[in-house]
Amino acid sequence: AGIDAALFDRVTGGLEPDPVVLRADRSQPEFTRPVWEYLDGALSAHRVNRGRQLLGNHAQTLGAIEQRYGVDRHILVAIWGLESNFGSHMGNHSVVRSLATLGHQGRRPEFARSQLLAALDILQRGDISPERMLGSWAGAMGQTQFIPTTYNSHAVDFDGDGRRDIWQSSADALASAANYLTANNWRSSLPWGIEVRLPDSFDYSRADMSIRLPLNQWQTLGVRSASNMSMPGDGELEASLLLPAGHQGPAFLVFDNFRSILRYNNSTSYALAIGLLSERLQGGGQIHASWPMNERPLSRSERVELQERLHQAGFDPGGIDGIIGANTRRAVRDLQQHLGKPADGYPSATLLEQL
Ligand code: CA
Repeated sequence: AGIDAALFDRVTGGLEPDPVVLRADRSQPEFTRPVWEYLDGALSAHRVNRGRQLLGNHAQTLGAIEQRYGVDRHILVAIWGLESNFGSHMGNHSVVRSLATLGHQGRRPEFARSQLLAALDILQRGDISPERMLGSWAGAMGQTQFIPTTYNSHAVDFDGDGRRDIWQSSADALASAANYLTANNWRSSLPWGIEVRLPDSFDYSRADMSIRLPLNQWQTLGVRSASNMSMPGDGELEASLLLPAGHQGPAFLVFDNFRSILRYNNSTSYALAIGLLSERLQGGGQIHASWPMNERPLSRSERVELQERLHQAGFDPGGIDGIIGANTRRAVRDLQQHLGKPADGYPSATLLEQL
């Protein structure tokens, strides 16, 4: 792989598997936090205040990054805040040791091995020393929590010292995040999304990330801005309808920039938190609708049971793995339609009870 033998020997000499990394890789949590609790943590007053302070401290750098990459500074500071709490929680595992451990005994060894080679490549280029190349147990590094392959393809030296240092240089870290978003189709001056309200008797089966309609078509279907403001952009802008807690909770129209954030971390709760935090930093970002706090998310074993029962009832959940993906949501929706219930595809405890 083009890695110098002496470097390889130096960083792998005496290497032993890290049991902490293996435990983290194998743990499958039984309980999931409801999305509103996740958002409470992500959008805490402390994080918002710190973010506002840093927007002031780094105004000049952020302005230069905005100019070069076309990514809004509030989005970048929101990512910085969620990925590493603005550079204060970057993880202190040796990246080489973590990835070697996962490449040897992890659940996705091929992936870990390719990341390990990319990490050695970073060391060979001299951007960082082996001792300072620290990250999360899974090998996510620095203030942006980039995995090594993402670092190699998208990290940039913005402060001009010749090294791409996403650990110590916040300018490099923020510009690297902007460069990554731009490479993933971020469109300058367009919104990430907007909270909306839906008319009575709305067909909730339209709430699916695979369905993209122009804004004016959503408006024809009776979808309106929750704050009664006018919709952003022109009517041709394509959006999907997102119901993070099913039809009883808030609704959002999300645009292509939301999908760019998903490329950073493929979780709609994460992307929603980034969008809302970017607005909180500017004094907005309050959600109008209330969350269905009487509904709790299904536990892991309940999700498995839901899939088993859907399968038995003739609604194919596409595998029984406890993960609610597109196939399971479709099966839930088919069941809801069969029962004459709002077909939002949301796997609630009430639905499991009925099933
Ligand atoms: Ca630098």
